[in-house]
Amino acid sequence: MHSSGLKYQRVASRILDYYRQHPVPPLLIFTGPHGTGKLDAALQFIQEQLCEAGTACGSCSDCRLFQQIGGEAHPDFIQFPAEKTPIGDAKKPEPFTVRWLLSTRLPFAPYHAKRRFVLFPAADLINHEAETALLKTLEEPPDHTRFIFIADSVESLKETILSRGVHVPFHHVPLRALEAQTGIRDVHDLEMLGGSFELLDMIQSEAYRSLKAAVDDALSHQLGLLELEAYVREEAKRNAEMKELEYTYEDFLQAFALLLLQRTRRMPVAGDITQAVHQFLSGMRMAQGGMLPFHLSRLFFDLHRTIYETV
Ligand SMILES: [Zn+2]
Repeated sequence: MHSSGLKYQRVASRILDYYRQHPVPPLLIFTGPHGTGKLDAALQFIQEQLCEAGTACGSCSDCRLFQQIGGEAHPDFIQFPAEKTPIGDAKKPEPFTVRWLLSTRLPFAPYHAKRRFVLFPAADLINHEAETALLKTLEEPPDHTRFIFIADSVESLKETILSRGVHVPFHHVPLRALEAQTGIRDVHDLEMLGGSFELLDMIQSEAYRSLKAAVDDALSHQLGLLELEAYVREEAKRNAEMKELEYTYEDFLQAFALLLLQRTRRMPVAGDITQAVHQFLSGMRMAQGGMLPFHLSRLFFDLHRTIYETV
């Protein structure tokens, strides 16, 4: 986890500072691109609120419970998984469904802290039915419970949700700030970060350096392109290993696509390559795992055609 901190998020930090001194509203909605520190900021804020000293001191019993792996140890903090949140069974709702929250948690006062916090790290993925059920609670929230929703953008949330919360916007981090924060000097690498810390682990990895060399090689002769394809496919097998390195195969592919765009920018066929890469990226976003090899094949087919068959 990179504590990019709130240093570069002036608006968000001003809003959160205000609620350090004033009563926290029933629903705070953090929005902004991936990797801009929304989750870190939310966790920090919640820890301060639960902390006996109100400072996230790190040593009181609330802080110690909170800091245990996943934060699940604190009885007054409920963090939903960052995936689709279903409504849950009407009679016996499974944990981390909306009905489970409404029937087995919210009716009761917090155990330890003054207030319970409920965090939805991917609020845009709350199922429609679940959202409707939750809305009623957000209209008249119990005084002892506070909600924090995190989403990529305001557009991804329903108007009815937005109108009930205080919006805390996060923005892309300026290049200069990224440079200061990461110590990365290479302008191209900084550009690759695209204003967030999302790909930072990837860009600082050994794999990224090899990938960069392989992409440059691929753009200089056709055999290199074949080698690059084999390399990119082979990397999929290292997914488990990558997780330990704090990036995923998807990050790797993302970096690969961005590198292609960056390295071909001055080529006469840049327009065609850009189109192929964007097609690949949107295919990748939609793809349910199994389709990925197809999207890769199509991308490499397009690359061969545009780079080596147009002369
Ligand atoms: Zn504390």
